[in-house]
Amino acid sequence: MPNGAATGRPVRVDAAGEPLRLLHVHAHPDDESSKGAATTARYVDEGVEVVVATCTGGERGSILNPAMDRPDVLANLAEIRRQEMDRAREILGIRQVWLGFVDSGLPEGDPPPPLPEGCFALVGLAEAAEPLVRLIREFRPHVITTYDENGGYPHPDHIKCHQISVAAFEAAGDPEAYPDAGEPWEPAKLYYQFTFHRDRIVALDAAMRERGLESPYAERLAEWKPDPAHQARVTTKVPCAEYFPVRDKALLAHATQIDPQGSWFAVPLEVHQEAWPTEDFELARSRVPTELPEDDLFAGIAVDSPAGRSSSRVPA
Ligand SMILES: [Zn+2]
Repeated sequence: MPNGAATGRPVRVDAAGEPLRLLHVHAHPDDESSKGAATTARYVDEGVEVVVATCTGGERGSILNPAMDRPDVLANLAEIRRQEMDRAREILGIRQVWLGFVDSGLPEGDPPPPLPEGCFALVGLAEAAEPLVRLIREFRPHVITTYDENGGYPHPDHIKCHQISVAAFEAAGDPEAYPDAGEPWEPAKLYYQFTFHRDRIVALDAAMRERGLESPYAERLAEWKPDPAHQARVTTKVPCAEYFPVRDKALLAHATQIDPQGSWFAVPLEVHQEAWPTEDFELARSRVPTELPEDDLFAGIAVDSPAGRSSSRVPA
């Protein structure tokens, strides 16, 4: 996928003429490819500078692809996940930074076992937010994305990722906070990733059944009651269907985490592009005026509009 710089198209800029900058904060390697990756690919194509901050090394992840479930892979999981991340980074055309924390693992059992000593979830908030504040002050993003207060799903690292992102969004522009972590920079907007909401799953489920295909969501939807308050949190839908293939490629680069035969790829690409051509977000904080709903994370920041320049149409 070419990017704005490579295609010679003018890059999108803010009122000061500076290129737009987007920072995604994620818990583990692979989260940048499973959440908002088509949005990333679209913005890279428009010449936006995108950095992914990965809180942990994913050291305690399980191997979720039967083809990769081998002793030699398990013995070297941390190193293999770094290599997978490198490949995904190249596919997405981004810069990626490790924040250096250790994966907390997903505690399973009743009662759940205690979290392992030294893991990300157990680091105090002020200390855990420091490397992110430093990165924000160095990269100076206009927009930051992270997860909602529930983590998007209840993994302790995802919840901690939310907490440090909110703390760093507030602290990065404050000269009194973290005085040794660089020149203050105030990001304009903070979003929560909202990819896995019910309306989208309902639409994908219906699209599969209309085509006489087996929906992978039937069981999940049977237990998932409508939640209008949760649904109303979606403020921003970014058209990016054209970039779904890039997202899929980046996901597959995380070979230990993604089963190509699994539910991720049960909905054919064309069906997905037609049934739900956006990736969705909740605007959680904004320091610039903007009108909701939005279709652009840079609404209120970019001096141009993406309409007409980004070819985010859905193939007919
Ligand atoms: Zn994760």
